[in-house]
Amino acid sequence: MKISVFHNQQSTSILLARELRKKLLAAGNSICESDPELVVTVGGDGTLLAAFHRYAHKLNELRFVGVHTGHLGFYTDWRDYELDELVESLSNDQGESVSYPLLDIKISYQDVSRDTQHFLALNESTIKRMNSTMVTDVYIKDELFERFRGDGLSISTPTGSTAYNKSAGGAVLHPRINALQLTEIASLNNRVYRTLGSPLIIASDEWIRIEISEEDEYLVTVDQLNLHQSNIAAIQYKIAAERIHFASYRHTHFWRRVKDAFIGEL
Ligand code: NAP
Ligand code: MN
Repeated sequence: MKISVFHNQQSTSILLARELRKKLLAAGNSICESDPELVVTVGGDGTLLAAFHRYAHKLNELRFVGVHTGHLGFYTDWRDYELDELVESLSNDQGESVSYPLLDIKISYQDVSRDTQHFLALNESTIKRMNSTMVTDVYIKDELFERFRGDGLSISTPTGSTAYNKSAGGAVLHPRINALQLTEIASLNNRVYRTLGSPLIIASDEWIRIEISEEDEYLVTVDQLNLHQSNIAAIQYKIAAERIHFASYRHTHFWRRVKDAFIGEL
């Protein structure tokens, strides 16, 4: 198999990646960064997010596997001391995979001659106004749903629901559910201003459109990417046609992972 080993810059990850490359080569694989069939990440969830964006243009042609050097992650299944088992399971690989939904983001601008920008997110996208209260109209499937006032909004995938979304009070979604979640960040709610005030989950054939009412500078995030944007007219969010594929050599039970990450031993 043509395999890319993608690691973060921590010394433990650099050493582990070096060792893993040796073992993969010894087992008859080749190392290929430009056109891999499999991407093994070494680090944390953030490392897998970075690898996802590095290879976002060929998601349908490759699969990911995550090795973690810190705590157990949501995208990382293998422990640092399990390299031999990982290499062996790759040698017996039959091409199995599991896939999860991604978020498709389209930003359009007031200036109609400016091209729409298109992004994919694995975790989420957030929009925040830099200098004062954000006022936006939220449309669901082209129908005006609410006028939001507050710090910002987060739109997350099911696998991203345990990341920023959860800190903003969103629900944890099982990644088999093909849906997107809209979560408020500090909404203003009083007699004059009214939003739903709770996270909402839209179905797979629906989309969310956020229309900006006041021209200003906004911060739009796409996973760990920060985009400072002015003159935004609207952002449209829907489930992407592409999905991320994981080699399913080991499939940790989702709720056990959630328990391990957030609750620990009872
Ligand atoms: P980071 O600042 O290192 O990430 C923050 C934490 O989120 C890290 O512990 C990271 O795990 C974890 N994480 C990432 N994806 C996750 C997921 N799907 N489920 C549960 N935890 C997850 O930055 P980063 O590693 O580059 O990750 C970027 C992500 O961080 C963003 O997409 C956003 O979701 C999240 N974030 C969260 C907050 C917040 O909760 N207030 C603020 C900013 C960003 P690792 O240590 O394994 O990397
Ligand atoms: Mn991180």
